[in-house]
Amino acid sequence: MRLKQYSQTFRGKVVLSFMIATLITFLVVAVLFYNGIDRTLRQNQAKQLETVSQAVSEVLTEKLNRGLQIRDGGELESYLEFIQSTYGAYVWIVQPNGTLVMDNGIPYEARENILYLPQKEPASADILSSELIQWGQGQRPVLPSPYVSGGSTTSRISFSGGNFMGLFKNVPGVSWISVVQPVFDSQDSDVQLYIQVHMRYNLHTVNRSYMISSMVLSMSVSLLLALIIIIIFSHAITKPINELSQAASKAAMGDLSVRVNYPAVKTTYQDEPDESVLPFDDVTVLVNTFNNMIERLEMSNSDRRDFLSSISHDLRTPLTSISGFVEGMLDGTIPPEKQERYLKIVYHETQRLRNLVNDMSEAVKLDYNNIPYNMRNFDLNRLILDVIAGLESLLNEKDISVQTDIREGSSKPLMVVGDEEQLNRVLYNLVSNAIKFTPQGGVIAVTTRHPAGARFVEVYVEDNGPGIEPQDLPHVFERFYKGDRSRTGNSGSGLGLYIARSILQAHGQRIKAGRSAMGGACFIFTLQLA
Ligand code: ADP
Repeated sequence: MRLKQYSQTFRGKVVLSFMIATLITFLVVAVLFYNGIDRTLRQNQAKQLETVSQAVSEVLTEKLNRGLQIRDGGELESYLEFIQSTYGAYVWIVQPNGTLVMDNGIPYEARENILYLPQKEPASADILSSELIQWGQGQRPVLPSPYVSGGSTTSRISFSGGNFMGLFKNVPGVSWISVVQPVFDSQDSDVQLYIQVHMRYNLHTVNRSYMISSMVLSMSVSLLLALIIIIIFSHAITKPINELSQAASKAAMGDLSVRVNYPAVKTTYQDEPDESVLPFDDVTVLVNTFNNMIERLEMSNSDRRDFLSSISHDLRTPLTSISGFVEGMLDGTIPPEKQERYLKIVYHETQRLRNLVNDMSEAVKLDYNNIPYNMRNFDLNRLILDVIAGLESLLNEKDISVQTDIREGSSKPLMVVGDEEQLNRVLYNLVSNAIKFTPQGGVIAVTTRHPAGARFVEVYVEDNGPGIEPQDLPHVFERFYKGDRSRTGNSGSGLGLYIARSILQAHGQRIKAGRSAMGGACFIFTLQLA
């Protein structure tokens, strides 16, 4: 792949941005490192110059104290020359009036600012007067007054990096380090002389080639290492993204069985997020979200298939029997005296169809949260009695007795919060299921329990029918789920419990199914106390 194309890919961009970041980091470190070295070198050089000025000052003081001339013995001159040849430092001995009484050279950068005055006759009071004569040639170099003391007449001062207040002409890449030290007379009161030591400071000429070559070398090595590491790591970053995009395009083509395998953690979709598997890094979360999304799509796809096959089955059976009976009555296969019996069956079947259609439309509304809930306080005991009363004919038909912990007329109201009409539906579905699945002469119990200190009540609907098989328990609240019909009867849409759970969830309440102590099924749901 060509470089330009590579840099357009996600991985190319990751690599490129890491490389740029590495380069910038390296440059910043290099600049800081260079500045650090520069500062240390300057300080060291200033210290060296201070040592020189100290040594010169000691020699000078001793000479003056002994009443000798500066040039007597000649050792000071030799010392200054030695310093010039070893360090390249300029040492000037300057009178307070600016006259240079001794030096080991004047650099060309300073020549412009130094005055050359005609030789004057030494004043008799000038203890150094005899020195001036040494210059001869009728010229004496004089430092203009601002440069003489360097700003201090009492102690030694250093100037690190610069041009000594403008004395030295600016030359690119060159700066000066200077030390000025006053020398006092024997009473330590007046400054007799100043010792100035100046030295060129040029980091570049000293270290440049070494520093640049070592920096270039280390930069290349670190960039190369960074490149290798980044390429390896970027693979880990981009692999799941690439897999995601491949999986997404497969899903877009209709293959909902695809899943992205990264990392080897699999979390199936749950209504409530499982806190124990969190947190993951962002890519893992993305991959898991994608997998869950596809899983839900796949589920809703199979849901739709189940829905269609379930409806067509549930609609076909009663429709077939209705059309069969009506046809028989029309063509005379069913004699008029038997017609009433068959009309009753037809009527029963149309009732079933109507209930089925009602359930379906209710379930669709609940799915789309299309129901306005009318939340208010109401008496749960009265609701339970109303539901039982409404189902009385079915109860009588099967001679089923109902046990409750409420005795009509005598019980105190039990106030709860919710949409009474919807909760009526929940109870109705549970109790009518209990009736449906309980044999002739069976028992149903509807009871309420208030756990101590809780803000909710638990409602129990139990029966002594065949109960729910353990393997069916996790599924009974799913849409269109019907358990083993041979055990639990034939009719039903498989929507009753789904509707009940949806309504309770919309109330922020829970429902669960289990086995009752009475032998049959037990459903428990919660309601918030008023
Ligand atoms: P259906 O209309 O088929 O009753 P539901 O959603 O109300 O649909 O119930 C789903 C399934 O749960 C039923 O088909 C049945 O297998 C099981 N079930 C529900 N209530 C009871 C009960 N009281 N006793 C035994 N099984 C039950």
